[in-house]
Amino acid sequence: MRYDENDRESSNVEDRRGQGGGGMFGGGGGGGGGFPIPMGGRGGFSLTTMLIVGALMLLFGLNPLDLITGGGSVDMSRVPQMPQMDGGQSPRSGRNDIPGLPGGQAQAPGQDELGRFTRRVLADTEDVWERVFQASGRQYKKPTLVMFTGSTRTACGQGLSQMGPFYCPLDQKVYVDLAFYDELKRRFRAPGDFAQAYVVAHEVGHHVQTLLGVADKVQEMKQSYPREANQIQVRMELQADCLAGVWANLNDQLKKRLQPGDIEEGLNAASQIGDDMIQRQTQGQVVPESFTHGSSAQRVRWFKTGFQGGSMQVCDTFRTNQL
Ligand SMILES: [Zn+2]
Repeated sequence: MRYDENDRESSNVEDRRGQGGGGMFGGGGGGGGGFPIPMGGRGGFSLTTMLIVGALMLLFGLNPLDLITGGGSVDMSRVPQMPQMDGGQSPRSGRNDIPGLPGGQAQAPGQDELGRFTRRVLADTEDVWERVFQASGRQYKKPTLVMFTGSTRTACGQGLSQMGPFYCPLDQKVYVDLAFYDELKRRFRAPGDFAQAYVVAHEVGHHVQTLLGVADKVQEMKQSYPREANQIQVRMELQADCLAGVWANLNDQLKKRLQPGDIEEGLNAASQIGDDMIQRQTQGQVVPESFTHGSSAQRVRWFKTGFQGGSMQVCDTFRTNQL
């Protein structure tokens, strides 16, 4: 990505690195989103999926994304430029995380390049989503990003770096242990600054879903259809991937951030952290019914869909039979 010294760093960051996080409550009930995994599913997608899609459509009534975009796409060239300025979920199911693996050491203070990069990416998400919301007469409430090491307290319970980055809708904060970037590079074989930006953009995507009311409706759905909770969660995650793609597109229109290879880095990261890849790596087998984020192919497809479409309209993962 193309950043220089003068690019804005978001001030909506809480730096809790090195604070050690008082993990008295131990654990938070296992990572991976903390949602109970109904095992023994039949793996049958067809009828169940159609019923779910039908129910989702009824529940949403209309495309929730229409609420904000007014049904039209946002042409960034026509959105007024703003001056750059600084700026229901149960606790456990409220975490929307990228499955993570054990975190590493705190960033060496030094120049804190990763921290500054993360602040710049966050600033870019603020600028893009602020414009998108404004274009439909809404206000974007910026999320706070918490940098932590090891574990930290959140409104959704104790956050552990093993969970990977996650978003807590109850306090509307994105939690990132920057050691995950290293994990991404080495263990997930997803190097590159854009891979890191994609992670932040995905979590901010969950924030957008929360502001739009999608997250609440998804939570209702999961309670009504507990056996299909994982399938519903997958749609939620793929929508966040799609929103990350939309952001990448609009951000590039606005600031020309992309360099050759960036999108490939994002697609590679999306692929490497697909549920099937993770499961193959950690448990040696793939159990599609327990997916909570989507397969590699699905994550790649939805990020790409968002990036190519450049509008939230293309991110309707809730009303499609074709994930
Ligand atoms: Zn997620």
